[in-house]
Parts: sequence; C-alpha cells; structure tokens
Amino acid sequence: MTHPYRGSCLCGAVKFEVDEFLPQAAHCHCSMCRKFHGASYATIAGVHRSNFRWIEGTEALKQYTAKNATTRTFCRHCGSSLAFSSPGAPKEEVEIALGAMDGDVPVVPSAHIFVGSAANWTVLCDDLPQYEEKRGSTRINS
Ligand SMILES: [Zn+2]
Ligand SMILES: [Zn+2]
Repeated sequence: MTHPYRGSCLCGAVKFEVDEFLPQAAHCHCSMCRKFHGASYATIAGVHRSNFRWIEGTEALKQYTAKNATTRTFCRHCGSSLAFSSPGAPKEEVEIALGAMDGDVPVVPSAHIFVGSAANWTVLCDDLPQYEEKRGSTRINS
C-alpha cells in the first residue's frame, strides 16, 4: 500500500491524499447515500482533516447540502462522490467515499448502518453488525 493513500474522481480532474484513516468505516444504506452513489450502499471512512488534502482540481469540486444539513462534495465534471460531512460530526473530521480511493487502503468496514432504509434487493452476506440507523442504534441482526 502506497502511503499517503491517493484517491481521485472518475474523470481524474480531482485528486486527494489521505495520510491516515480513522478506525471506523461503515457501509451506509440511507436513502441519500443510495441516491447519491446510485448504488445499494455507500462505504464511508472517517479521516482527520489534518490527514486529508485535495492535491488537484479543487476548482472542479462542487457541494450539495441536503435538507438535513449534511454536505456531499463531488466532482462537477463526472459526478463522483468524494467527501461527506454532517453537522453532528466532530468538526475536525471528514468522511471519504472509500470507492474513490485508487489503491489498497488499510480500512476494514465494521458495520452496516441505516439498514432500516436498505433497498429490498440488497442482500448482506457478511457478519458485520447491522444497525437500523446510525452505529449504536437498534441492531437488526445478531
Ligand atoms: Zn471528475
Ligand atoms: Zn448514508
């Protein structure tokens, strides 16, 4: 694994680096992550802002703030989801769309969250804890 870890958008306009990931990463099944990613769920990993930097293409970044005040950062050219932040999270943290990373990263997602909103065609075959909403909320599996 090459350090720092590099990530980029689909068209390559935006590039970023991560020095180190925070320990908790999760698969989020909320309807907003599903729509934004066009996928059954989004895999999101936390990073301390001091360990994260945009290295190319900041002029291509665009943000969308949803009604619940969460903000998603994406490439204005190709639409790739790159970063996520919510007003409830610690200010010094940002969350990264793990699928935007270019190589291997030392991250092991440890939960499925907002499974209460999961698409009916999503089949989960791993043993990770599944939470109705955020991590620590009602657990669906045992
Ligand atoms: Zn792009
Ligand atoms: Zn979500």
